[in-house]
Amino acid sequence: MKTNYRIVIVGAGITGLTLAALLARGRHADALEITVIDAAARPAYSAADDVSLRVSAIANGSAALLDSVGAWSAIQLARISPYEAMRVWDENDTFDSGSALRFAASEFAVPQLGFIVENVLVQDALLAVLDECSVTLNFGTAIDSLPEADLVVGADGARSFIRGLAGIKTTLWPYQQTAVVTHLKTERKHAATAWQRFLREGPLGMLPLADGRISVVWSTTPERAQQAMTVSNDELGRLLTLASDGVLGELSVAGPKGAFPLCAQHAESYVLPGIALIGDAAHAIHP
Ligand SMILES: Cc1cc2nc3c(=O)[nH]c(=O)nc-3n(C[C@H](O)[C@H](O)[C@H](O)COP(=O)(O)OP(=O)(O)OC[C@H]3O[C@@H](n4cnc5c(N)ncnc54)[C@H](O)[C@@H]3O)c2cc1C
Repeated sequence: MKTNYRIVIVGAGITGLTLAALLARGRHADALEITVIDAAARPAYSAADDVSLRVSAIANGSAALLDSVGAWSAIQLARISPYEAMRVWDENDTFDSGSALRFAASEFAVPQLGFIVENVLVQDALLAVLDECSVTLNFGTAIDSLPEADLVVGADGARSFIRGLAGIKTTLWPYQQTAVVTHLKTERKHAATAWQRFLREGPLGMLPLADGRISVVWSTTPERAQQAMTVSNDELGRLLTLASDGVLGELSVAGPKGAFPLCAQHAESYVLPGIALIGDAAHAIHP
């Protein structure tokens, strides 16, 4: 009977590294020879760097999963921002109206609803776990043919090369929206709350950061996103103050900015013999 299985995970984003850690810390780890390959350089978190543009809302369940592989303690000691409440309202309404949606951690008897965490911090903590396991990490290595393995995992993002090689088709729904992402200072405190206003052109999300700033994800038309990327920071702050209906007072840009075209994409199959797709390679949705 075969007792040794070679698994190659292509992609060291959050999903690829989480899978590698789950397998390396799982009960069948001794039977697995795990390799992670990524085209990019090894990501590294540094507290000396400014908060990265790419942050994610990590729900308590995901934090528990990261804890189960030993990655959460390092994340928790670094720069994360718990959010204790959420407020969601519509363009035609006000944030304090009765029809605005409110969620509070206290309703669920938990200290927080989740955490805002830099993606690079999650990757860094998972890599520290994998450094302690017998997992081979190959960074700076772009895959251009199917690796030889018992199982190849395509964790290589929305434009998955592995998915293409396997001939797995996708269904694509372009949103005709682009997400503008930046960090801002606010006139009023963010109150450890995730704010989201639904506008006709797309939702505006405002996430609390540990240093008092907010991370904004403004989903809007490609034209308005292009305008947002080219105007001065003062003008962008003014546009976002308007879009947020002034819920946190005047907003001023205080960080880098970036634009991400949005679409929904779903692979017609997640698995074929010897191949599995995970993360954005399998399904990508609106942030
Ligand atoms: C603005 C924005 C905000 C978001 N906010 C949230 C949020 O709050 N919560 C949330 O859960 N999600 C959020 N998302 C979505 C989330 O970021 C993605 O779902 C997630 O990062 C996908 O991770 P992944 O590991 O599947 O892929 P990726 O992060 O795309 O990683 C793929 C990796 O594969 C590597 N790769 C690609 N091709 C090759 C190749 N040929 N050879 C070798 N390596 C290769 C790449 O270098 C990369 O490191 C957001 C997305 C956006 C755009």
